[in-house]
Amino acid sequence: MEGASSSLLDAEAVADLVLLDPLTEESLVQTLRERFRRRDIYTYIGNVVISVNPYQSLPIYTPEKVEEYRNCSFFAVKPHIYAIADDAYRSLRDRDRDQCILITGESGAGKTEASKLVMSYVAAVSSKGEEVNKVKEQLLQSNPVLEAFGNAKTVRNDNSSRFGKYMDIEFDFKGEPLGGVISNYLLEKSRIVRHVKGERNFHIFYQLLAGASPQLLQQLKLRQDCGHYGYLNREGSNLPGMDDAANFHAMQDAMRVIGFSPAEVTELLQVTAVVLKLGNVQLSSSFQASGMEACSITEPRELREICELIGLEPGTLERALCSRTVKARDETVLTTLTVPQGYYGRDALAKNIYSRLFNWLVNRINASIQVKSDKQRKVMGVLDIYGFEIFQDNSFEQFIINYCNEKLQQIFILMTLKEEQEEYVREGIQWTPVEFFDNSIICNLIENSTTGILAMLDEECLRPGVVNEDTFLTKLNQLLATHKHYESKETQNARRVTDTSLPPRCFRIHHYAGKVTYNVTGFIEKNNDLLFRDLSQAMWAARHALLRSLFPEGDPQKVSLKLPPTAGSQFKSSVAMLMRNLYSKNPNYIRCIKPNDAKSAMVFTPELVLAQVRYLGLLENVRVRRAGYAFRQPYGPFLQRYKMLNARTWPRWHGGDRQGAEVLLAGLAFPAEELAFGHTKIFIRSPRTLFDLERRRQE
Ligand code: ATP
Ligand code: MG
Repeated sequence: MEGASSSLLDAEAVADLVLLDPLTEESLVQTLRERFRRRDIYTYIGNVVISVNPYQSLPIYTPEKVEEYRNCSFFAVKPHIYAIADDAYRSLRDRDRDQCILITGESGAGKTEASKLVMSYVAAVSSKGEEVNKVKEQLLQSNPVLEAFGNAKTVRNDNSSRFGKYMDIEFDFKGEPLGGVISNYLLEKSRIVRHVKGERNFHIFYQLLAGASPQLLQQLKLRQDCGHYGYLNREGSNLPGMDDAANFHAMQDAMRVIGFSPAEVTELLQVTAVVLKLGNVQLSSSFQASGMEACSITEPRELREICELIGLEPGTLERALCSRTVKARDETVLTTLTVPQGYYGRDALAKNIYSRLFNWLVNRINASIQVKSDKQRKVMGVLDIYGFEIFQDNSFEQFIINYCNEKLQQIFILMTLKEEQEEYVREGIQWTPVEFFDNSIICNLIENSTTGILAMLDEECLRPGVVNEDTFLTKLNQLLATHKHYESKETQNARRVTDTSLPPRCFRIHHYAGKVTYNVTGFIEKNNDLLFRDLSQAMWAARHALLRSLFPEGDPQKVSLKLPPTAGSQFKSSVAMLMRNLYSKNPNYIRCIKPNDAKSAMVFTPELVLAQVRYLGLLENVRVRRAGYAFRQPYGPFLQRYKMLNARTWPRWHGGDRQGAEVLLAGLAFPAEELAFGHTKIFIRSPRTLFDLERRRQE
């Protein structure tokens, strides 16, 4: 922290947790609580900002506030997300340093709102002009489109992002936005076919039914009634505080601004309608001539309408839904499916269409916002990604999400230490290595290319013959029997540990943020993520250009025997790419915290916050930040603030700032190891010394 704001003395509610004394989890939570009570939702750890969701609209995002934070010194004003955005933007514009803004926190903590605040701040302070304004508008309007298709109501958050998002905003040398590129991670596609009570499917379905004109509904062969659709729920419509129809129109306007043609919008909505209608295709069993039981379509109307929408022979789709071609040596045999197999295929198809459509949407937006010129660019990346998850039942999805968070923690420690070290070198101060918990061992446990859990899962997925999760778990138990961060029933037995909390078919990982027990059920299927070839071939056979383009592997000319990469290995490589990208930039952190489970403006539940403080690794964060020196400030302002503490510097010091600070501090007799004099800044090791200075100043 540089510069002493008035709240420095206020030990009840320090604005920067680096100054917390004593530093404990309890004091940290207590400080956040006191600040929350005062409506100070932002708090620093050095230049990391913690944001506690206020669940009410506060008057702190006005144009006047933008002006206040614009070009101000980071620490001269109250902690604010604008201060981080401003610091990052100025460093990019004036010092040519590419930036990234990493926003983490659990569901409902305020990540997406924070990312939009950063974007709108940057849009407000960068220059204006017709061309630039158009670019800004397009960048901002990508949000309602992606939220319509990628967000849903969950029990935790009415507008929960069900995908991870990273957006690079690109600027020219003057700091004017030129465009951007969006990357998306792991859409929760299982939501298409099922969601728990009290939740909804993706917003777009409800928006479409509520907002489309009767003509459009007719064109898409849809009925307005939510309850008619198997994949939706009747209670989903008319949610309080959510105007689906208005959001639908806003989404359509946003698409227009981004540059979607009316024909593209129609195609997009047609494919969306197909997904919805697939959920109403009913199957039942009938007896074939051979006496075998097989599945068939009960009510052909929905199937016929789907086929009309996508330009496909109904027989083709029916065959693909009810049977499967199996190649045995030189023969191909058509085998009929059972009803559960048929439904499984139907749902897999719906999920696949939707997730591929979402990828297409991101690419289509990118095609519009991508920078076309080859001018030299500066980049600000904004990452809005799911935080650490520990549920009652944790499956493949939580495993993948927590792996990503483990990597983010790793890069956080590396970058923070690197930055500290660089500052000390710049200032000519002796650097002593800091002790910290290195989580590489956990990252390695998951991602190592031969002995990592992901690699072993892939191996099981490839193995011919009977594969199931039990063989996978057995293998993990053999190979990781002695790993410090791995546990299961078997390894516990071997270690003679009695622990009833770890059920069978589970393994447990000791993550940096805590222990998580994963149930292996579904790991293989989710990792394989296979779609019956008959279905992809049927989709490719459709005349609908967009739908067909989503299934390139359905082209019979291109049948390949190679299996597509697994979900786990795809995620691993996109995370690796993300990490390389982040590591090349100057990091800025926004750590979001949810104060209560009731979405209430007034409630602060300490136990809940404490858990998040742990998942976010905040204590470690403070420790690393002040591993060297807790406080640093340029000599000029420092001398100005404390010159009255020494007769030789009061009322005026005639000489250099640095000498002035030296003379001033010499008179105060602090232990030598408390202070270090850099080229331009004074460094103070412990908060206590700083409080001491402040106390004497007040006296
Ligand atoms: P998820 O991981 O589920 O996507 P999230 O962290 O992105 O969650 P948000 O959608 O950003 O959470 O926030 C949830 C809700 O909290 C918002 O819809 C809004 O009502 C409220 N909220 C968040 N941040 C603020 C803020 N700064 N001011 C006022 N309300 C806020
Ligand atoms: Mg979100």
